[in-house]
Amino acid sequence: MTTTKIKGRWIVAFDGAEHRLVENGVVVYSGATIDHAGRDDGRPADRVIDAGNDLVMPGLINTHVHIGSQAGDRMILDGGRRDLFRSGFLNHWPAKGRGGTNLFAFEDVGASLRYSLASLARFGSTTVVEMGGEFEDDPAGLANLAAELGIRLYTAPGFASAGYYYDQGGRLNLAWDEAGGLAALDRAIAFAEAHDGDHDGLIRAILVPFEFYTSTPELLTGAKRAAERLGIGITLHCSESVIEVHDTIRRTGKTPIQVLADLGVLGPEVVLGHGLYTGGHSQIAFPFDTDLRLLAESGTSVAHCPAVFARRGVVLESFDRYRDAGVNLALGTDSYPQDIVEEMKFAAIMAKAVTRSFEAGNARDVFNAATLGGARALGRGDLGRLAPGAAADIVIVDFARLRIGPLLDPIRALIHCGSGEMVRHVVVAGRDVIADGRVLAWDEGALLAAVRRSTEDAWSRFADYHAGTEPLDAAYPPSFRRLGGT
Ligand SMILES: [Zn+2]
Repeated sequence: MTTTKIKGRWIVAFDGAEHRLVENGVVVYSGATIDHAGRDDGRPADRVIDAGNDLVMPGLINTHVHIGSQAGDRMILDGGRRDLFRSGFLNHWPAKGRGGTNLFAFEDVGASLRYSLASLARFGSTTVVEMGGEFEDDPAGLANLAAELGIRLYTAPGFASAGYYYDQGGRLNLAWDEAGGLAALDRAIAFAEAHDGDHDGLIRAILVPFEFYTSTPELLTGAKRAAERLGIGITLHCSESVIEVHDTIRRTGKTPIQVLADLGVLGPEVVLGHGLYTGGHSQIAFPFDTDLRLLAESGTSVAHCPAVFARRGVVLESFDRYRDAGVNLALGTDSYPQDIVEEMKFAAIMAKAVTRSFEAGNARDVFNAATLGGARALGRGDLGRLAPGAAADIVIVDFARLRIGPLLDPIRALIHCGSGEMVRHVVVAGRDVIADGRVLAWDEGALLAAVRRSTEDAWSRFADYHAGTEPLDAAYPPSFRRLGGT
């Protein structure tokens, strides 16, 4: 077994309780496991990587990603329907007509997935949770691509009891099919039984009821029972849109999180995507604040994706309030860009802005969310840390950059000056995935060309999935009109 030693100016090592900075330290790993992280104790290695003045940190854990999602969320930037109360995905996710298609049907799935997976690794994510997307005819296709690239992936085909569609009057509706949802749950369970642990453990199964709002109680409790039986996790979107929260309160008198608690679905193996419109949020007119206590007491985690919501004018209230309530916070990049380093910056800055406090969104807490918080959300004591026995998932960030400049604290420099572009080396399970800032498994130029072709093709067929009658440039006007255009 090959032993590798990484030497660097700044090592983020884990002391068993918390991260510690080690100046001029080392990380030593043999095979897929870390032997030592800390001061150089002189132990020999077959291979030495000199990280110079760079930052050496644990691989980052990205707990909420739509890997195949390209055209929709980019299209709606600065625009979209006003009757969705700022929700982003409801602009492009619903089908055109009941039983119709949405824009995903017009994208090249393979090109989308390769591009996003490569970006995730390139920008420092070593473990990724996919929110239920897949190859339509091959549920293991995405897992096989992740393994080809060499990163850790939590995945299974997602399921729902209802699908969104716009009717001919342009109104948003749900088409319910409980039997179809339960059959899709069975398919996800079969996937988990067949594929959990594939590719030397890089691939792990997770059950993904897409949304609280589109799941019946039977589907949610069925997923909970299956997850307990299989010893795997569950993740679902919850408390992410005003429509979902208000509809739930009007129908049940309870918030979505209260409903989940009463169904017995919350728990330490459950990760709520977003979980931001909780009782007490200033934008839902429901000041009765029991949600955070329910999350904390049950050990439920929240996958916080600040960038995608900030683009819609929506913010979690607040990172520090959740943390102080005892809620485990993890981070996710959702749709684009798949840059978990920049996501840390959004988490920090949005926390400061929404609380009007410079003490909020501390770099320490945000870094912990992207490492230890993600590991806890997935029940993985071996991830998100550089320590003996932990997985050899390691990221080296190039600090010889003008945008880093002088630094008093490397973690603050990373979060407030850095970006995922500065990641230059990534190791997952002891194997190099990124070297010299390049993806090793695939040709970046080719996959970028393919995803642009796929996405431009989807945009060119706007009328096929858009519920309105206006063309793309009227529904989503460009920043500047084209020269010579009308
Ligand atoms: Zn999502």
